[in-house]
Amino acid sequence: MNSVNAVIDAIETKKFGGELSEELIRSVVEGYTAGEIPDYQMSSLLMAIFIHGMDYRETLALTRAMAESGKTYSFPECVDKHSTGGVGDKVSLTALPIAAACGAPVAKLSGRGLGATGGTIDKLESIPGFSFDHSEERFARQVEEVGLAIIEAGDLAPADKEIYALRDTTGTVDSLPLIGSSIVSKKVATGAGYLLYDVKRGSGAFMKTTEDARRLAELLVRLSEDLDIRASALITDMDNPLGSAVGNALEVRESVRLLKNEPVPEDLTIEVNHVATRLLELKDIPDAEVAVENALDSGAAYEKFREFVRSQDGDAEALEDLPVSTQIREVESPKDGYVSRFAASGIGNAALALGAGRAKKGDEIDPGSGIEVLVWAGDPVEKNQPIARLYGEREGERAEQLVLEALEISDEPVGPSPAILGSL
Ligand code: URA
Repeated sequence: MNSVNAVIDAIETKKFGGELSEELIRSVVEGYTAGEIPDYQMSSLLMAIFIHGMDYRETLALTRAMAESGKTYSFPECVDKHSTGGVGDKVSLTALPIAAACGAPVAKLSGRGLGATGGTIDKLESIPGFSFDHSEERFARQVEEVGLAIIEAGDLAPADKEIYALRDTTGTVDSLPLIGSSIVSKKVATGAGYLLYDVKRGSGAFMKTTEDARRLAELLVRLSEDLDIRASALITDMDNPLGSAVGNALEVRESVRLLKNEPVPEDLTIEVNHVATRLLELKDIPDAEVAVENALDSGAAYEKFREFVRSQDGDAEALEDLPVSTQIREVESPKDGYVSRFAASGIGNAALALGAGRAKKGDEIDPGSGIEVLVWAGDPVEKNQPIARLYGEREGERAEQLVLEALEISDEPVGPSPAILGSL
């Protein structure tokens, strides 16, 4: 079908809540990616989808068409995880080396971050020399030999890239079928055979409630299974930042501490161990929980991380003392009480002000900037007690204000919030 006729047909059908055929969806996706369908027609269709939704069959067809719109990879033996994004989320940096050390190979294609903090690629780039400039052959060889390789996702699912950019400017991002098809199309194109979704919920996440996070998790798993990926999902808290460190080099430093089995905040340990265990279970590796513990106790997980860093031209010795900004200021509690929440959204915005993230594409990150959170929900605090340490030379005063606004203090004792809220 000609794509110009296809998009008009699709708009006419969807504006009355009708069902789009697989053929129509494919023609529209191909036509838009090829530049044959203008933005104004695609926006009109996206808004009709936003208002009337898509049933599961349509969502699956859109996922498949977007996944096949560009280069696809195939790593059927590999595991991968996908997080819907959060503040201080260093689970890929930690759970993946643990899984690899336990015999589950990882081939990850990752992205740069937009928003509060960098993506996995930005975090790893804070390690001197670290490079993502691998040929496809070298990437595959490293997966084979080391069991862990991460490169930058280039032209994966280009249809999603174009459509997502348009959704971003037309008020059509927060539609469940559009979010589900967008996420899964990229994962299908990366080709891992086993996938764990970490769906975050809370102030610092895309999904604000546990019910919405569960609906997204169910859709992600169902779409993946129907596209030949063995998948499962967790729903995790992102009301508070994960662990202590927020910011690129700071997060790598905290990851190194975890991998060396040194103390890190409990929410981070619980989540990382859980994710690593679930990845091994997807691969039917026996006694997964014990295997994860052994990999940390024996030093195998940290050694795997060092091997991975060396294989990507990074300086593994520098991991022992990765440089961070020397411009440091401490923020103090304004009163006595109990921390009821240290809102992830506010901490994320403060980290962004310090230079840890990108407000818009192309902005330059300061890898040594960020925040160390010093108190957690449930902790008692005293007036003038340090609650956070800020690193970086940009907008320090604004960051301090944002951190103070993020801190919620109650007069009554408060229980800590659980790290894992559900799983499927
Ligand atoms: N992340 C994605 O990749 N796509 C969406 O639509 C939303 C979040």
